[in-house]
Amino acid sequence: MSNPFRDLPAVARVLETAAAVAARARHSAADLTKAVRDQLDTIRAAIAARGEAGDVSAESIAAAAVARLDVDAIPRLRPVINATGVVLHTNLGRAPLAEEAARAAFEAGRGYLNLELDLASGKRGSRQDAVRDGIRAVTGAEAATAVNNCAAATVIVLRAVAAGREVIVSRGQLIEIGGGFRIPDIMAVSGATLREVGTTNITRVADYERAIGPSTAALMRVHTSNYRVRGYTKAVGLDELVAVGRTRGLPVIDDAGSGQSLDLAPFGLPGEPLVSAGIAAGTDLVLFSGDKLLGGPQAGIIAGRADLIRRIEADPLMRAFRLDKMTLAALEVTLRLYRDPTRARRDIPVLRMLTTPLPDLTARAERFAERLRGVGVQADVQADVAYVGGGSLPDVAVPTAVVAVHTANEAELAARLRGGSPGVVGRIQGGRLLLDLRTVFERQEDELLSAIRVAFTFAE
Ligand SMILES: *Cc1c(COP(=O)(O)O)cnc(C)c1O
Repeated sequence: MSNPFRDLPAVARVLETAAAVAARARHSAADLTKAVRDQLDTIRAAIAARGEAGDVSAESIAAAAVARLDVDAIPRLRPVINATGVVLHTNLGRAPLAEEAARAAFEAGRGYLNLELDLASGKRGSRQDAVRDGIRAVTGAEAATAVNNCAAATVIVLRAVAAGREVIVSRGQLIEIGGGFRIPDIMAVSGATLREVGTTNITRVADYERAIGPSTAALMRVHTSNYRVRGYTKAVGLDELVAVGRTRGLPVIDDAGSGQSLDLAPFGLPGEPLVSAGIAAGTDLVLFSGDKLLGGPQAGIIAGRADLIRRIEADPLMRAFRLDKMTLAALEVTLRLYRDPTRARRDIPVLRMLTTPLPDLTARAERFAERLRGVGVQADVQADVAYVGGGSLPDVAVPTAVVAVHTANEAELAARLRGGSPGVVGRIQGGRLLLDLRTVFERQEDELLSAIRVAFTFAE
Protein backbone atom coordinates (compact mmCIF):
# COMPACT_ATOMS: atom_id res chain seq x y z
CA MET A 1 0.00 0.00 0.00
CA SER A 2 1.32 3.42 -0.92
CA ASN A 3 2.05 5.97 1.77
CA PRO A 4 -0.22 8.99 1.12
CA PHE A 5 2.32 11.30 2.81
CA ARG A 6 4.93 10.17 0.30
CA ASP A 7 2.63 11.07 -2.60
CA LEU A 8 2.64 14.76 -1.66
CA PRO A 9 4.65 16.96 -4.04
CA ALA A 10 7.66 18.90 -2.76
CA VAL A 11 7.24 22.63 -2.03
CA ALA A 12 9.63 23.48 -4.90
CA ARG A 13 7.52 21.44 -7.31
CA VAL A 14 4.31 23.28 -6.30
CA LEU A 15 6.07 26.64 -6.71
CA GLU A 16 6.89 25.73 -10.32
CA THR A 17 3.26 25.22 -11.35
CA ALA A 18 1.66 27.72 -13.72
CA ALA A 19 -0.73 29.02 -11.01
CA ALA A 20 2.13 29.70 -8.58
CA VAL A 21 4.29 31.33 -11.24
CA ALA A 22 1.41 33.61 -12.32
CA ALA A 23 0.80 34.58 -8.69
CA ARG A 24 4.36 35.92 -8.37
CA ALA A 25 3.11 39.10 -10.03
CA ARG A 26 1.03 39.94 -6.96
CA HIS A 27 2.55 37.96 -4.07
CA SER A 28 6.10 37.81 -2.72
CA ALA A 29 8.14 34.61 -3.04
CA ALA A 30 8.24 34.32 0.75
CA ASP A 31 4.44 34.61 1.04
CA LEU A 32 3.95 32.03 -1.74
CA THR A 33 6.34 29.57 -0.12
CA LYS A 34 4.63 29.99 3.24
CA ALA A 35 1.17 29.58 1.71
CA VAL A 36 2.26 26.36 -0.05
CA ARG A 37 3.76 25.01 3.20
CA ASP A 38 0.55 25.88 5.06
CA GLN A 39 -1.54 24.16 2.41
CA LEU A 40 0.66 21.05 2.61
CA ASP A 41 0.27 21.07 6.41
CA THR A 42 -3.51 21.26 6.03
CA ILE A 43 -3.38 18.24 3.70
CA ARG A 44 -1.10 16.27 6.05
CA ALA A 45 -3.53 16.93 8.89
CA ALA A 46 -6.38 15.68 6.70
CA ILE A 47 -4.43 12.52 5.84
CA ALA A 48 -3.62 11.93 9.49
CA ALA A 49 -7.30 12.28 10.37
CA ARG A 50 -8.95 10.45 7.45
CA GLY A 51 -6.19 8.48 5.73
CA GLU A 52 -6.50 10.42 2.49
CA ALA A 53 -6.93 14.04 1.27
CA GLY A 54 -8.43 13.96 -2.23
CA ASP A 55 -6.62 15.75 -5.02
CA VAL A 56 -2.99 16.28 -3.94
CA SER A 57 -1.59 17.24 -7.34
CA ALA A 58 0.91 20.13 -7.37
CA GLU A 59 -1.58 22.15 -9.48
CA SER A 60 -4.43 21.74 -7.03
CA ILE A 61 -2.20 22.57 -4.02
CA ALA A 62 -0.88 25.67 -5.81
CA ALA A 63 -4.41 26.83 -6.65
CA ALA A 64 -5.52 26.45 -3.03
CA ALA A 65 -2.43 28.24 -1.71
CA VAL A 66 -2.86 31.15 -4.14
CA ALA A 67 -6.57 31.39 -3.31
CA ARG A 68 -5.63 31.71 0.37
CA LEU A 69 -3.20 34.52 -0.39
CA ASP A 70 -5.70 36.31 -2.64
CA VAL A 71 -8.39 36.29 0.06
CA ASP A 72 -5.83 37.44 2.61
CA ALA A 73 -4.81 40.35 0.38
CA ILE A 74 -8.27 41.92 0.46
CA PRO A 75 -8.34 44.64 3.14
CA ARG A 76 -10.74 44.03 6.01
CA LEU A 77 -12.49 47.29 5.19
CA ARG A 78 -13.82 46.96 1.69
CA PRO A 79 -16.59 48.45 -0.42
CA VAL A 80 -20.13 47.26 0.22
CA ILE A 81 -23.16 47.81 -1.97
CA ASN A 82 -25.87 49.01 0.38
CA ALA A 83 -29.12 47.58 -0.93
CA THR A 84 -30.91 47.92 2.42
CA GLY A 85 -32.60 51.21 1.56
CA VAL A 86 -31.36 52.58 4.91
CA VAL A 87 -29.67 55.78 3.77
CA LEU A 88 -27.74 56.45 6.99
CA HIS A 89 -26.61 52.97 7.96
CA THR A 90 -24.14 53.30 10.84
CA ASN A 91 -22.75 49.79 10.28
CA LEU A 92 -22.08 50.66 6.64
CA GLY A 93 -20.30 53.94 7.35
CA ARG A 94 -23.29 56.32 7.42
CA ALA A 95 -23.12 59.04 4.75
CA PRO A 96 -21.31 58.30 1.48
CA LEU A 97 -19.47 61.47 0.45
CA ALA A 98 -20.21 63.63 -2.55
CA GLU A 99 -17.72 62.89 -5.36
CA GLU A 100 -16.09 66.29 -4.89
CA ALA A 101 -15.77 65.82 -1.14
CA ALA A 102 -14.30 62.33 -1.59
CA ARG A 103 -11.80 63.72 -4.10
CA ALA A 104 -10.81 66.49 -1.68
CA ALA A 105 -10.14 63.86 1.01
CA PHE A 106 -8.15 61.78 -1.46
CA GLU A 107 -5.98 64.74 -2.50
CA ALA A 108 -5.48 65.82 1.11
CA GLY A 109 -4.49 62.28 1.99
CA ARG A 110 -1.94 61.71 -0.75
CA GLY A 111 -0.05 64.98 -0.42
CA TYR A 112 0.71 68.08 1.59
CA LEU A 113 -1.72 70.94 2.07
CA ASN A 114 -2.02 74.29 3.84
CA LEU A 115 -3.66 72.67 6.88
CA GLU A 116 -2.25 75.14 9.41
CA LEU A 117 -0.45 77.58 7.17
CA ASP A 118 -1.83 80.88 5.93
CA LEU A 119 -0.48 80.90 2.38
CA ALA A 120 -0.97 84.69 2.02
CA SER A 121 1.14 85.69 5.02
CA GLY A 122 3.26 82.56 5.42
CA LYS A 123 2.23 82.54 9.09
CA ARG A 124 0.69 79.78 11.12
CA GLY A 125 -3.09 79.43 10.70
CA SER A 126 -5.86 77.42 12.37
CA ARG A 127 -7.02 74.18 10.78
CA GLN A 128 -10.56 75.02 11.86
CA ASP A 129 -10.61 78.02 9.51
CA ALA A 130 -11.30 75.71 6.56
CA VAL A 131 -14.76 74.84 7.87
CA ARG A 132 -15.82 77.83 9.97
CA ASP A 133 -17.39 79.87 7.16
CA GLY A 134 -19.20 76.87 5.70
CA ILE A 135 -20.74 75.95 9.06
CA ARG A 136 -21.69 79.56 9.69
CA ALA A 137 -23.37 79.78 6.30
CA VAL A 138 -25.33 76.55 6.84
CA THR A 139 -26.40 77.32 10.42
CA GLY A 140 -26.56 81.10 10.44
CA ALA A 141 -24.41 81.07 13.58
CA GLU A 142 -21.96 83.79 14.59
CA ALA A 143 -19.08 81.33 15.06
CA ALA A 144 -18.32 77.66 14.55
CA THR A 145 -15.85 74.85 15.00
CA ALA A 146 -15.74 71.10 14.47
CA VAL A 147 -14.40 67.99 16.23
CA ASN A 148 -14.33 64.26 15.56
CA ASN A 149 -18.00 63.43 16.05
CA CYS A 150 -21.09 64.65 17.84
CA ALA A 151 -20.26 62.58 20.93
CA ALA A 152 -16.93 64.43 21.22
CA ALA A 153 -18.73 67.72 20.55
CA THR A 154 -21.08 67.03 23.47
CA VAL A 155 -18.21 66.24 25.84
CA ILE A 156 -16.12 69.28 24.95
CA VAL A 157 -19.08 71.67 24.97
CA LEU A 158 -20.27 70.49 28.39
CA ARG A 159 -16.74 70.65 29.77
CA ALA A 160 -16.02 74.12 28.43
CA VAL A 161 -19.38 75.57 29.41
CA ALA A 162 -20.35 73.67 32.54
CA ALA A 163 -17.55 71.64 34.20
CA GLY A 164 -18.05 71.63 37.97
CA ARG A 165 -21.56 73.05 37.60
CA GLU A 166 -25.05 71.82 36.69
CA VAL A 167 -26.73 71.34 33.34
CA ILE A 168 -30.49 70.93 33.32
CA VAL A 169 -31.93 68.28 30.98
CA SER A 170 -35.46 66.87 30.68
CA ARG A 171 -35.90 63.25 31.82
CA GLY A 172 -37.60 62.60 28.50
CA GLN A 173 -34.31 63.35 26.73
CA LEU A 174 -31.85 61.19 28.69
CA ILE A 175 -31.25 59.01 25.69
CA GLU A 176 -28.91 56.29 24.60
CA ILE A 177 -28.01 56.74 20.92
CA GLY A 178 -26.28 53.38 20.62
CA GLY A 179 -22.64 52.44 20.72
CA GLY A 180 -22.52 53.41 24.40
CA PHE A 181 -23.52 57.05 23.95
CA ARG A 182 -25.72 57.79 26.96
CA ILE A 183 -26.36 61.37 27.95
CA PRO A 184 -25.86 60.79 31.72
CA ASP A 185 -22.51 59.05 31.07
CA ILE A 186 -21.33 61.74 28.65
CA MET A 187 -22.29 64.36 31.22
CA ALA A 188 -20.26 62.55 33.91
CA VAL A 189 -17.21 62.32 31.66
CA SER A 190 -17.39 66.05 30.91
CA GLY A 191 -17.25 66.98 34.59
CA ALA A 192 -20.65 68.68 34.50
CA THR A 193 -23.42 67.54 36.81
CA LEU A 194 -26.68 66.37 35.29
CA ARG A 195 -29.76 67.95 36.81
CA GLU A 196 -32.80 65.98 35.61
CA VAL A 197 -36.18 67.66 35.46
CA GLY A 198 -39.70 66.56 34.56
CA THR A 199 -40.75 62.98 33.89
CA THR A 200 -40.33 60.58 30.99
CA ASN A 201 -43.40 61.87 29.19
CA ILE A 202 -44.01 65.36 30.60
CA THR A 203 -41.62 68.23 31.13
CA ARG A 204 -42.85 71.81 31.53
CA VAL A 205 -41.15 75.20 31.47
CA ALA A 206 -41.82 75.46 35.21
CA ASP A 207 -39.74 72.32 35.81
CA TYR A 208 -36.68 74.03 34.33
CA GLU A 209 -37.40 77.27 36.20
CA ARG A 210 -37.67 75.51 39.57
CA ALA A 211 -34.38 73.67 39.02
CA ILE A 212 -32.33 76.78 38.21
CA GLY A 213 -30.02 77.79 41.06
CA PRO A 214 -26.62 79.31 41.76
CA SER A 215 -24.77 76.28 40.37
CA THR A 216 -26.69 76.09 37.08
CA ALA A 217 -24.40 76.58 34.09
CA ALA A 218 -26.67 75.79 31.13
CA LEU A 219 -29.98 74.40 29.88
CA MET A 220 -29.68 71.57 27.40
CA ARG A 221 -32.03 70.01 24.91
CA VAL A 222 -31.15 66.60 23.48
CA HIS A 223 -32.81 65.50 20.29
CA THR A 224 -34.55 62.16 20.91
CA SER A 225 -33.08 60.91 17.67
CA ASN A 226 -34.02 57.28 17.64
CA TYR A 227 -37.29 57.05 19.55
CA ARG A 228 -40.55 58.87 20.18
CA VAL A 229 -42.75 59.12 23.24
CA ARG A 230 -46.36 59.03 22.11
CA GLY A 231 -49.68 59.63 23.81
CA TYR A 232 -49.86 61.94 26.85
CA THR A 233 -46.66 63.89 26.36
CA LYS A 234 -45.35 67.40 26.66
CA ALA A 235 -41.87 68.64 25.91
CA VAL A 236 -40.53 72.16 26.13
CA GLY A 237 -39.77 73.62 22.72
CA LEU A 238 -36.39 75.07 21.90
CA ASP A 239 -37.88 78.58 21.66
CA GLU A 240 -39.45 78.25 25.13
CA LEU A 241 -36.14 77.00 26.51
CA VAL A 242 -34.35 79.94 24.90
CA ALA A 243 -36.85 82.30 26.56
CA VAL A 244 -36.06 80.78 29.98
CA GLY A 245 -32.33 80.96 29.26
CA ARG A 246 -32.59 84.64 28.29
CA THR A 247 -34.54 85.59 31.40
CA ARG A 248 -32.17 83.75 33.72
CA GLY A 249 -28.95 84.57 31.88
CA LEU A 250 -28.15 80.95 31.02
CA PRO A 251 -26.86 79.53 27.73
CA VAL A 252 -29.07 77.01 25.90
CA ILE A 253 -27.26 74.06 24.30
CA ASP A 254 -29.00 71.96 21.65
CA ASP A 255 -27.66 68.49 20.87
CA ALA A 256 -29.47 68.30 17.54
CA GLY A 257 -28.08 64.89 16.54
CA SER A 258 -28.72 64.50 12.83
CA GLY A 259 -28.95 68.26 12.29
CA GLN A 260 -31.12 68.78 9.27
CA SER A 261 -29.66 71.59 7.16
CA LEU A 262 -31.83 71.49 4.05
CA ASP A 263 -35.63 71.60 4.00
CA LEU A 264 -36.78 68.22 2.72
CA ALA A 265 -40.50 68.90 3.18
CA PRO A 266 -41.01 69.70 -0.54
CA PHE A 267 -39.82 66.12 -1.21
CA GLY A 268 -42.31 64.54 1.15
CA LEU A 269 -39.96 64.24 4.12
CA PRO A 270 -41.49 66.27 6.93
CA GLY A 271 -38.40 66.03 9.12
CA GLU A 272 -37.46 68.57 11.70
CA PRO A 273 -36.98 72.28 12.14
CA LEU A 274 -33.67 73.14 10.49
CA VAL A 275 -30.54 73.75 12.55
CA SER A 276 -30.60 77.32 11.25
CA ALA A 277 -34.09 77.79 12.74
CA GLY A 278 -32.73 76.83 16.17
CA ILE A 279 -29.90 79.34 15.84
CA ALA A 280 -32.33 82.00 14.62
CA ALA A 281 -34.53 81.28 17.64
CA GLY A 282 -31.58 82.17 19.88
CA THR A 283 -29.98 78.82 20.75
CA ASP A 284 -26.52 79.63 22.11
CA LEU A 285 -24.82 76.44 20.88
CA VAL A 286 -26.00 73.73 18.54
CA LEU A 287 -24.18 70.43 17.96
CA PHE A 288 -24.77 67.86 15.24
CA SER A 289 -23.05 65.09 13.30
CA GLY A 290 -21.27 65.66 10.00
CA ASP A 291 -22.19 62.23 8.65
CA LYS A 292 -25.92 62.13 9.27
CA LEU A 293 -28.34 64.35 7.31
CA LEU A 294 -25.58 66.83 6.44
CA GLY A 295 -24.18 64.06 4.22
CA GLY A 296 -20.51 64.71 4.93
CA PRO A 297 -17.66 62.94 6.72
CA GLN A 298 -17.76 61.86 10.35
CA ALA A 299 -17.48 65.06 12.39
CA GLY A 300 -19.08 66.88 15.30
CA ILE A 301 -20.18 70.33 14.24
CA ILE A 302 -20.44 73.03 16.90
CA ALA A 303 -22.04 76.36 16.01
CA GLY A 304 -23.16 79.34 18.05
CA ARG A 305 -21.97 82.27 20.16
CA ALA A 306 -18.42 83.44 19.43
CA ASP A 307 -17.43 83.74 23.11
CA LEU A 308 -18.53 80.16 23.78
CA ILE A 309 -16.78 78.83 20.67
CA ARG A 310 -13.56 80.53 21.88
CA ARG A 311 -13.90 78.83 25.26
CA ILE A 312 -14.45 75.47 23.58
CA GLU A 313 -11.40 75.87 21.33
CA ALA A 314 -9.28 76.85 24.34
CA ASP A 315 -10.12 73.56 26.08
CA PRO A 316 -7.21 71.07 26.12
CA LEU A 317 -9.56 68.39 24.78
CA MET A 318 -9.68 70.29 21.48
CA ARG A 319 -6.25 68.87 20.71
CA ALA A 320 -7.48 65.35 21.40
CA PHE A 321 -10.70 65.76 19.46
CA ARG A 322 -9.41 67.71 16.46
CA LEU A 323 -10.24 66.63 12.94
CA ASP A 324 -7.64 65.18 10.58
CA LYS A 325 -6.73 66.74 7.23
CA MET A 326 -8.77 64.35 5.07
CA THR A 327 -11.94 64.89 7.07
CA LEU A 328 -11.48 68.65 7.11
CA ALA A 329 -11.00 68.70 3.34
CA ALA A 330 -14.13 66.60 2.77
CA LEU A 331 -16.16 68.64 5.25
CA GLU A 332 -15.18 71.96 3.69
CA VAL A 333 -16.25 70.80 0.24
CA THR A 334 -19.51 69.26 1.53
CA LEU A 335 -20.42 72.54 3.24
CA ARG A 336 -19.62 74.48 0.06
CA LEU A 337 -22.17 72.41 -1.85
CA TYR A 338 -24.88 73.89 0.40
CA ARG A 339 -24.33 77.33 -1.14
CA ASP A 340 -26.63 76.16 -3.91
CA PRO A 341 -29.46 74.04 -2.44
CA THR A 342 -30.29 72.49 -5.84
CA ARG A 343 -26.70 71.40 -6.22
CA ALA A 344 -26.57 70.10 -2.64
CA ARG A 345 -29.63 67.96 -3.25
CA ARG A 346 -28.17 66.61 -6.48
CA ASP A 347 -24.52 66.07 -5.48
CA ILE A 348 -24.75 65.02 -1.83
CA PRO A 349 -25.68 61.32 -1.99
CA VAL A 350 -27.70 61.27 1.25
CA LEU A 351 -29.92 64.11 0.03
CA ARG A 352 -30.22 62.69 -3.48
CA MET A 353 -31.17 59.24 -2.18
CA LEU A 354 -33.73 60.60 0.28
CA THR A 355 -35.39 62.79 -2.31
CA THR A 356 -35.46 60.35 -5.25
CA PRO A 357 -39.10 60.36 -6.37
CA LEU A 358 -40.88 57.01 -5.98
CA PRO A 359 -41.83 56.72 -9.69
CA ASP A 360 -38.14 57.10 -10.68
CA LEU A 361 -37.10 54.49 -8.16
CA THR A 362 -39.85 52.10 -9.27
CA ALA A 363 -38.81 52.44 -12.91
CA ARG A 364 -35.20 51.74 -11.97
CA ALA A 365 -36.23 48.70 -9.93
CA GLU A 366 -38.30 47.40 -12.88
CA ARG A 367 -35.34 47.76 -15.22
CA PHE A 368 -33.04 45.97 -12.79
CA ALA A 369 -35.52 43.14 -12.18
CA GLU A 370 -35.74 42.73 -15.96
CA ARG A 371 -31.95 42.44 -16.19
CA LEU A 372 -31.96 39.82 -13.42
CA ARG A 373 -34.61 37.79 -15.23
CA GLY A 374 -32.44 38.12 -18.33
CA VAL A 375 -29.67 36.20 -16.58
CA GLY A 376 -32.07 33.59 -15.26
CA VAL A 377 -32.72 35.01 -11.78
CA GLN A 378 -36.38 35.18 -10.78
CA ALA A 379 -37.16 38.69 -9.54
CA ASP A 380 -40.00 41.18 -9.36
CA VAL A 381 -40.70 44.60 -7.90
CA GLN A 382 -42.62 45.18 -4.66
CA ALA A 383 -43.77 48.32 -2.86
CA ASP A 384 -42.13 48.70 0.55
CA VAL A 385 -41.04 51.31 3.11
CA ALA A 386 -37.56 52.32 4.19
CA TYR A 387 -36.26 54.37 7.10
CA VAL A 388 -33.65 57.08 7.05
CA GLY A 389 -31.60 55.42 9.80
CA GLY A 390 -28.59 56.72 11.69
CA GLY A 391 -30.80 58.05 14.46
CA SER A 392 -32.55 60.41 12.07
CA LEU A 393 -36.23 61.00 11.50
CA PRO A 394 -37.32 57.83 13.38
CA ASP A 395 -40.97 58.45 12.55
CA VAL A 396 -40.57 58.94 8.84
CA ALA A 397 -41.20 55.87 6.69
CA VAL A 398 -40.04 56.57 3.16
CA PRO A 399 -42.16 54.77 0.53
CA THR A 400 -39.89 52.77 -1.71
CA ALA A 401 -39.82 50.05 -4.39
CA VAL A 402 -37.67 46.97 -3.88
CA VAL A 403 -36.43 44.24 -6.19
CA ALA A 404 -37.53 40.95 -4.62
CA VAL A 405 -35.22 38.08 -5.56
CA HIS A 406 -36.81 34.63 -5.38
CA THR A 407 -34.58 31.90 -4.05
CA ALA A 408 -34.91 28.52 -2.40
CA ASN A 409 -32.54 29.62 0.36
CA GLU A 410 -32.55 33.35 1.05
CA ALA A 411 -30.21 33.17 4.07
CA GLU A 412 -27.58 31.30 2.05
CA LEU A 413 -27.92 33.74 -0.84
CA ALA A 414 -27.61 36.73 1.53
CA ALA A 415 -24.49 35.21 3.11
CA ARG A 416 -22.91 34.62 -0.30
CA LEU A 417 -23.64 38.21 -1.30
CA ARG A 418 -22.15 39.60 1.91
CA GLY A 419 -19.03 37.52 1.40
CA GLY A 420 -18.40 38.73 -2.14
CA SER A 421 -16.15 41.56 -3.20
CA PRO A 422 -17.73 44.07 -3.12
CA GLY A 423 -20.02 42.75 -0.40
CA VAL A 424 -23.73 43.22 -0.96
CA VAL A 425 -26.15 43.80 1.90
CA GLY A 426 -29.90 43.57 1.35
CA ARG A 427 -32.88 42.63 3.51
CA ILE A 428 -34.52 39.25 3.99
CA GLN A 429 -38.28 39.31 4.25
CA GLY A 430 -41.01 36.78 3.58
CA GLY A 431 -38.65 34.22 2.05
CA ARG A 432 -37.28 36.74 -0.45
CA LEU A 433 -34.09 38.73 -0.65
CA LEU A 434 -35.09 42.38 -1.02
CA LEU A 435 -32.81 44.87 -2.75
CA ASP A 436 -33.66 48.55 -2.39
CA LEU A 437 -31.96 50.52 -5.14
CA ARG A 438 -32.56 53.82 -3.33
CA THR A 439 -29.19 53.34 -1.60
CA VAL A 440 -27.43 51.71 -4.58
CA PHE A 441 -25.45 54.09 -6.79
CA GLU A 442 -26.31 53.77 -10.48
CA ARG A 443 -22.63 53.13 -11.16
CA GLN A 444 -22.89 50.00 -8.96
CA GLU A 445 -25.72 48.31 -10.86
CA ASP A 446 -23.47 46.23 -13.14
CA GLU A 447 -21.44 45.05 -10.16
CA LEU A 448 -24.62 44.25 -8.25
CA LEU A 449 -25.94 42.22 -11.16
CA SER A 450 -22.78 40.17 -11.49
CA ALA A 451 -22.54 39.69 -7.69
CA ILE A 452 -26.05 38.22 -7.70
CA ARG A 453 -25.21 36.04 -10.68
CA VAL A 454 -22.09 34.67 -8.99
CA ALA A 455 -23.95 34.09 -5.72
CA PHE A 456 -26.66 32.17 -7.58
CA THR A 457 -24.14 29.95 -9.35
CA PHE A 458 -23.05 28.72 -5.92
CA ALA A 459 -26.28 28.86 -3.98
CA GLU A 460 -28.87 27.20 -6.19
C1 LIG B 1 -26.13 60.58 16.57
C2 LIG B 1 -26.26 61.44 17.77
C3 LIG B 1 -25.16 61.69 18.59
C4 LIG B 1 -23.83 61.07 18.32
O1 LIG B 1 -23.29 61.55 17.16
P1 LIG B 1 -21.92 60.91 16.56
O2 LIG B 1 -21.56 61.88 15.49
O3 LIG B 1 -22.28 59.56 16.08
O4 LIG B 1 -20.94 60.88 17.66
C5 LIG B 1 -25.31 62.52 19.67
N1 LIG B 1 -26.51 63.06 19.96
C6 LIG B 1 -27.60 62.84 19.21
C7 LIG B 1 -28.90 63.48 19.60
C8 LIG B 1 -27.52 62.02 18.08
O5 LIG B 1 -28.59 61.80 17.33
